[in-house]
Amino acid sequence: MSSKYLYDFDEPCDGGRDLLGGKGVGLAEMTQLGVPVPAGFTITTDACRAFMQEGDLPHGLTAELDEHVRRLEERTGERFGDAADPLLVSVRSGAAVSMPGMMDTILNLGLNDAAAEGLATRTGNPRFAYDSYRRLVQMFGEVVDGVDGHRFESALSALKRQRGVNQDMDLSGDDLRELVATFKEIYRTDADGEFPADARDQLLRAVRAVFKSWENPRAHVYRRANDIPDDIGTAVNVVQMVFGNKGDTSGTGVAFTRNPSTGEQGLYGEFLANAQGEDVVAGIRTPQPLEAMRESLRDAFDQLVDTMRRLEEHYRDMQDIEFTVEDGRLYLLQTRSAKRTAAAALKSAVSMVEEGLISQQDAIGRIDPAQLDQLLHPMIDPDASLEVAAKGLNASPGAASGGIVFDADTAVERGKNGPVLLVRWETTPDDIHGMIAAQGILTVHGGMTSHAAVVARGMGKPCVAGCEQLELDTDAHTATLGGRTLRQGDVITIDGGTGNVYVGEVPLVPPQLNEDFETILGWADDVRRLGVRANADTPEDAARARGFGAQGIGLCRTEHMFFGDERLPVMQEMILATDEQGRRAALDRLLPFQQSDFEGIFEAMAGLPVTIRLLDPPLHEFLPTEEQATSDRMRARIRALHEQNPMLGTRGCRLGLLYPEIYEMQIRAIARAARVVQERTGGAPLVEVMHPLVGFAEELRRLRDLTEAVWAEEAPDVAHLVGTMIEVPRAAVRADEIADHADFFSFGTNDLTQTTLAFSRDDAEGKFLTRYLNDDVLRQNPFEVLDTTGVGDLMRLAVERGRAAKPGIKLGICGEHGGEPRSIAFCETLGLDYVSCSPFRVPLARLAAAQAALATSGAGVYVAAGG
Ligand code: PEP
Ligand code: MG
Repeated sequence: MSSKYLYDFDEPCDGGRDLLGGKGVGLAEMTQLGVPVPAGFTITTDACRAFMQEGDLPHGLTAELDEHVRRLEERTGERFGDAADPLLVSVRSGAAVSMPGMMDTILNLGLNDAAAEGLATRTGNPRFAYDSYRRLVQMFGEVVDGVDGHRFESALSALKRQRGVNQDMDLSGDDLRELVATFKEIYRTDADGEFPADARDQLLRAVRAVFKSWENPRAHVYRRANDIPDDIGTAVNVVQMVFGNKGDTSGTGVAFTRNPSTGEQGLYGEFLANAQGEDVVAGIRTPQPLEAMRESLRDAFDQLVDTMRRLEEHYRDMQDIEFTVEDGRLYLLQTRSAKRTAAAALKSAVSMVEEGLISQQDAIGRIDPAQLDQLLHPMIDPDASLEVAAKGLNASPGAASGGIVFDADTAVERGKNGPVLLVRWETTPDDIHGMIAAQGILTVHGGMTSHAAVVARGMGKPCVAGCEQLELDTDAHTATLGGRTLRQGDVITIDGGTGNVYVGEVPLVPPQLNEDFETILGWADDVRRLGVRANADTPEDAARARGFGAQGIGLCRTEHMFFGDERLPVMQEMILATDEQGRRAALDRLLPFQQSDFEGIFEAMAGLPVTIRLLDPPLHEFLPTEEQATSDRMRARIRALHEQNPMLGTRGCRLGLLYPEIYEMQIRAIARAARVVQERTGGAPLVEVMHPLVGFAEELRRLRDLTEAVWAEEAPDVAHLVGTMIEVPRAAVRADEIADHADFFSFGTNDLTQTTLAFSRDDAEGKFLTRYLNDDVLRQNPFEVLDTTGVGDLMRLAVERGRAAKPGIKLGICGEHGGEPRSIAFCETLGLDYVSCSPFRVPLARLAAAQAALATSGAGVYVAAGG
């Protein structure tokens, strides 16, 4: 079968970005728009995929390559490999998805000793000819043969030292000719052979090397971090060389059509006179602001400004452009959608709507919801250069500095006098007061859904979890971080957005909530179908969530209401009681506390639905360890409550059925609070009582009876619903039977993931799961991004069966996935009614829900330009 693997830039091709790569499609489109672009052609991603499969260039490709080189020669009037007037080309990688700097590029192919001499004569510029030649030997050596770049750099530095000059530009043509000889010697030794003089040979080897660079480790890591498939391959662009290093009327630069940090309109970019592109990237010389070109290269500058405007209009997006000026003539080498900060993304999208360039729907599609996190938490100053002492999981975004403390009580104590960071092996609900007092949380163990991570995200506090490089000695009150021993009170900084930990204080910049943000979210609210609620356990969280636009609470975990100085001893009394009467006596004392908590939450969420989940964790979590027990009775009870697998043990609704008086107290507190708030404010909360960990219809039937009975006693006139979490596979499978007793389902995908995959959510991360992710057994952490084909299939089944049994049943999700954009998109396809996530994720969930609605309705989903 003969395939076509090559396309000239001006040749029609239907394959678009997937086939030509971002750079290739950009060069083709620019050529077709009449923008000045050097001539050239693209070798498709098909060829790369074939290369990966066959281990060499696919059959027919070399013949096609020869033919396209011939056409390029015709077009340029120069000959490839010619000694007198050589055609020189660059070979540039360009995948469908932008992977800046991850793969390789080689410039000036086609030079050899004779051609360099010819070029020197033809241009009358030996300096330029030999500078180009030495760059070829260097890049080719590095990319094709893996020669260490430092070998070339040090030879260049040595020559400059010998000549007593500082700048490359101060070396003469003769100097550079000598340097070429040195570089070729380095090549000969390190690459085990002569530098290839034959232009065709150079080109073929370069193409192979660029295809191979798709597989290099940094590209692999980048793809994993950015969720780019491994098998799509890169295209290769062979482009006629244009030279920015020909003298003062030449140069090279990068330009943005708007400011990529702020999104403001106006020219933004850098220019380097008499240089080739990689000089800008390598930072060897400091470029000038783009404006400097206005004086020195007036015509090219005017043409550049005009071209930038045209490109932005054409792509209807902020462009990032690479250009070269050769002897006063402008050439564009690349255009792509510009990478930008969250603030710039918002501002440019809003302004483009105002300018009539894009629609509101386009604007919604332009914003990466995950990036909005940047705007909701203080961040490490991006300009600071810092040494990372250790790295953990980026469990909750934002950055914080503070004196370290090793237990919750000390956090509270020291937190009164200044910022503290709570550093623990892992946290438990018992640490909550310390977490509240601390600016951030750092744990040695635990993953993205560990207690520390979930609670920190809920509070909007930075958290780095699973930082296994951190050593703790809690007895000595010391921690070892990056080889340094730290004592209580020593200051460190954590960046929960990256997982980085730094010793000492680091400059932070505050969150930037602005009008553009509100505007885009307003548009998103107009198009989304999914409701967005928040997971909130306190009136403060509830108020914050409302401020971020939450339309209710999808999960109020009640376990925290049993902790705190006044409550925990009473809870322990309840657990230690030997009979129901004893338990009831203790519970009666807990009721007023919980009622007042609920009143606060209902007031903050007046008129909106509030889902309250009854007690879920196993009782041992409320007791100290056996060694710390304060009485023999307590010790005996701790022993009796011990279970090998507490997460599969006496928890959730099982507790409610075993000790109905606990749930009864909670339901009573909820109903009373609802009634009181209704009487006080006239606004009835829409209370939804939720039972956790149900697997059998009979469990829910009994608990529903209990709920209704208590409710009828306490608040017969206040509306309420009774429902369940779907968080064990059996509940999903038997959703029809369970629906008979439920007004709503809320998918608890944290537990549903744990129970479906049989992955312990407390242990998997940091252990085998980390290895699975590193080794690509799994592409994504299923506790972070919903496992749509496994857990998701169970959800689909539950939706179908639940709705078949009860068509109007309300369906939501309250696991951590409810705030994750890809998982939200999946929930949209399932037709859930709402997603619920931590308050700080509410804005991004609003946006992600809108994007999901646009995607399912088939409305034009935005594809970024360029590569
Ligand atoms: C869940 O399991 O998804 C859930 C929301 O409950 P928790 O995380 O409290 O177990
Ligand atoms: Mg759960």
